[in-house]
Amino acid sequence: MSDLPERDARVIWHPYTQHGIEAAPLPVVRANGAWLELADGTRLLDGISSWWATLHGHSHPALVAAISEQAARLDHVLFAGATHEPAVQLAERLLAIVPEGLSRVFYSDDGSTAVEAALKMVLQSWVHREQPDRRVFVALDGAYHGDTFGAMAAGDPDPFFRPFESMMFEVRRVPTNAAALAQAFDELGDRAAGFIFEPLLQGAAGMRVMSVEFVQQARRLCDERGLPMIADEVMTGFGRTGSMFACERAGISPDVMCLAKGLTGGMLSLAATLATEELFESFLHHERSRFFPHGHTFTANPIACAVALASLEVSLANDVPAQLERIGRGVFEQLADLEDHERVADLRHLGGMAAFDIVVPEGQAGYLSDLTPHLRREAVRHGVLLRPLGNVLYALPPACLTDEQVTKVASVMRHLVTTLA
Ligand SMILES: *Cc1c(COP(=O)(O)O)cnc(C)c1O
Repeated sequence: MSDLPERDARVIWHPYTQHGIEAAPLPVVRANGAWLELADGTRLLDGISSWWATLHGHSHPALVAAISEQAARLDHVLFAGATHEPAVQLAERLLAIVPEGLSRVFYSDDGSTAVEAALKMVLQSWVHREQPDRRVFVALDGAYHGDTFGAMAAGDPDPFFRPFESMMFEVRRVPTNAAALAQAFDELGDRAAGFIFEPLLQGAAGMRVMSVEFVQQARRLCDERGLPMIADEVMTGFGRTGSMFACERAGISPDVMCLAKGLTGGMLSLAATLATEELFESFLHHERSRFFPHGHTFTANPIACAVALASLEVSLANDVPAQLERIGRGVFEQLADLEDHERVADLRHLGGMAAFDIVVPEGQAGYLSDLTPHLRREAVRHGVLLRPLGNVLYALPPACLTDEQVTKVASVMRHLVTTLA
């Protein structure tokens, strides 16, 4: 027996967790491929890629080797006034596969910092271009861009960020609708700074899929007004939508692109904010003070860059976008007959994601809060790690899932909804 949960309860403060109410955390001792192994020997299928990060499967040997080799050669060096092969090579490889027009890679630590860097780049570039009143970004209802202040401001304040509302800068929020976006731009006029969104798939909003047409219309609206489009592909990047990038699938190029989560195959924290040459050049000046004053201690950490390079190689060799498409479609097709079930609404799938909404009975407001922990517990009891977003039950597994494991995930999702009272 493990005493980890008891020791944890004494010293740890977990993210997105109500201590004292929620079930004790799962004591995970090792992971391999799609499997997580608990202290008592129980094995769980990772149905959500450990918060949308794990891309190929856990502890992939090529990634493990890349980490240990790089750690022995060059562990870390500052990235201002120094450079190294893993960072440069990773930038070269990334720029070769992202949508056209992106030509500069700015590294940081995680999805939130990638978004902070994107917002700051755009805002500062407006100052340099002598349009300092362009301060207001337009963002979507339900948007999630991370938990730091700028990222929170860009995200929908509900349900998480109301306590910080008075501290956040102004953002114009619109539904996923081209007319609403155009109207917001027009109303903001010379105050509009740009548009930030999660292309094709809004993750934290509840795995909401948007149309390719909307993405293309948004691109056109930004173009018509000379406004930069920031594509937050922190979750959608690296094959999750069935293409390497959601923007690629939608047939557009953003001006700024945020990458994290799957960048290292989900092994280490690393992020990249990719920008156009035009944006980069707006910072070039004979005055040093016009540089971009942003950088983190571990910017472009060589070990993280090396594992990202190894992950890209595995992605290309295994055609990860196609694998994820196979998995997402597999789960979706096996649940297709639930479409008419009274507790199932909006069964959907995009790339490696399959989801449905659980219909919550009218007038049982308190029911929802009990539903999520119940579903989590039941999923684990049946051997699959799932973490519903409110009443949205979804799967977003790593690319190594076998067809048999796809069936397992789908059958547990089916069980969860068909056994509800
Ligand atoms: C997870 C996520 C972030 C934040 O990334 P962190 O690494 O958790 O800071 C930002 N944007 C999107 C779309 C995400 O899914």
